[in-house]
Amino acid sequence: MKKEKGQLIVLSGPSGVGKSTVIAELLSQRKNIYFSVSYTTRQPRVGEQDGVNYNFVDRAEFERMIAAEELLEYAEYVNNYYGTSLKAIQDRLDAGIDVLLDIEVQGAAKVRARCPGALFIFIIPPSFEELSRRLHRRGTDSEDIITGRLEKARVEFREIPSYDYLVINDKVSGAVAEIEAILTAAECRVDNRKSILAQFA
Ligand code: 5GP
Repeated sequence: MKKEKGQLIVLSGPSGVGKSTVIAELLSQRKNIYFSVSYTTRQPRVGEQDGVNYNFVDRAEFERMIAAEELLEYAEYVNNYYGTSLKAIQDRLDAGIDVLLDIEVQGAAKVRARCPGALFIFIIPPSFEELSRRLHRRGTDSEDIITGRLEKARVEFREIPSYDYLVINDKVSGAVAEIEAILTAAECRVDNRKSILAQFA
């Protein structure tokens, strides 16, 4: 059944928690979800592709997008800008497609203020030590950057109470199953099933 309006889903969690892997698995299992490819000024990591993982732009272009109000939200994170294109997501939501945003907590707070119907999910690792291990194992960032990301993670954890759901990424399959359950429950909300209800009136 086609939905009248897509669900906006905000997923946050510290860098290194394994969000990208969880998202890739979720997208392969669940249809009708569009992953919003963010804009960023950070350099691509090995294996990342422009237009797939991120749209990589320079600071001048990002600042032009801010000034032109092309972004639903944006934030500065460890010295780089990250932001979500408003048009890309609005078109999908209007077409009844769910839209998934992988964004950090400041951006999520902006979406919370602007989009009251959005669903907010925070992903944590099984422990703080495990987060540090995962960042080191990834091998893509210098020790300084890793320290910055761990410090940032501690600040981000303080925002968890303003999210709707908390998912623990111990095993990817477990985290994906929890997110699937959350999304299915959201779909079953009476508000989201108004078009079926009409025939029972
Ligand atoms: P990374 O550099 O590890 O890919 O991402 C760093 C952080 O930026 C992650 O927490 C990620 O969720 C966040 N992020 C990615 N895209 C966006 C975006 O469009 N807006 C905001 N606010 N944060 C983003």
